[in-house]
Amino acid sequence: MTTEWDAGRLDSDLSEVGFDTLAVRAGQRRGPEAEHGEALFLTSSYVFRSAADAAACFAGEAKGNVYSRYMNPTVRTFEERMAALEGAEQAVATSSGMAAILAMVMSLCSAGDHILVSRSVFGATVSLFDKYFKRFGVEFDYVELADLNAWKSACKPNTKLFFVESPSNPLAELVDIRGLSEVAHAQGALLAVDNCFCTPALQKPLELGADIIIHSATKYIDGQGRCLGGVVAGRREHMQEVVGFLRTAGPTLSPFNAWVFLKGLETLRLRMQAHCASAQTLAEWLEQQEGVEHVYYAGLPSHPQHELAKRQQKAFGAVLSFEVAGGREAAWRFIDATRLLSITANLGDSKSTITHPATTTHGRLTPETRATAGIRDNLIRIAVGLEEVEDLQADLIRGLAALRA
Ligand SMILES: *Cc1c(COP(=O)(O)O)cnc(C)c1O
Repeated sequence: MTTEWDAGRLDSDLSEVGFDTLAVRAGQRRGPEAEHGEALFLTSSYVFRSAADAAACFAGEAKGNVYSRYMNPTVRTFEERMAALEGAEQAVATSSGMAAILAMVMSLCSAGDHILVSRSVFGATVSLFDKYFKRFGVEFDYVELADLNAWKSACKPNTKLFFVESPSNPLAELVDIRGLSEVAHAQGALLAVDNCFCTPALQKPLELGADIIIHSATKYIDGQGRCLGGVVAGRREHMQEVVGFLRTAGPTLSPFNAWVFLKGLETLRLRMQAHCASAQTLAEWLEQQEGVEHVYYAGLPSHPQHELAKRQQKAFGAVLSFEVAGGREAAWRFIDATRLLSITANLGDSKSTITHPATTTHGRLTPETRATAGIRDNLIRIAVGLEEVEDLQADLIRGLAALRA
């Protein structure tokens, strides 16, 4: 749909432009006020010209906005921009990243289906699957992320969906997405990738054969720690099901949050580039420090999947983990000695964060499950923000000094 203002302007046909141009312009439809920036439609409902017009819109016989649980122009702009950036036929916005996962499973799976999930997915995702979906008769098994044979042998006749995060949190493990998509499709299952850590600026899972993308827009898409939101993207046939669930059940995205995310997307690639450059500098430096036993970051040649990361991603992301000499007590001393890094489990913010996975994000796992996942008590995770890298380094030096104290 083009408006009077877009007619003849490139805004109305962005089929030939690059990523950064899409990130700034895709999905916008200028209204009668000729606004340059994206309009924020903070409205819950819409009016009709007549009773007959209302009836036609409700019946779906005429096009028109009805109610913001069904559609909102600001949210639609965000959805269209996300679809353009991921190369998806359609994207659907949700109230949070968890709501995106909820909507995907509720709309595409039924009781009796089996889902395979990579072992170290986001903690709330594990709770959602184990505590809630199981009650409704959806079965799950957890699989070693990188091992394609393990995926193959974990398949059952009723396996409907594979769900992965690549790279993983906090150990930055990867899966060969193309290889995994072939395993999933041979099984007649769909492959869903939570692309939160890379964003489409670094990784395009649909181009690698995945069927569905999940995002927590709360992280790098916002980029400045303000709003919660999520996205499901993929083929139209699947997204129509997701839309149907969201309209009925209600975890749709607030137009205000959609507007904030639109502004976030405009700088996404530039921010990701800066996040990744600082993470690379810190990872290489940490690897040389006394008191640091191991650094987990796919940008390091010492990472066993460095070559895969180079092939599959444009850069290596901004979340890195390292093990310090000592145990839990040493890791806590390191964290408490920092003064600039925020002690919080969040990530994807311009502010750098530091966290102790074993007692926070992965604290609810049993010690055995944690051990299988490779999350030791001396592991520290940082999500590198946009501060001066020298200042972050100086803060980590405070942590290293505390190890020797
Ligand atoms: C944060 C996060 C989620 C959940 O997103 P919310 O917006 O907090 O609901 C899901 N997956 C990953 C990888 C995340 O980091």
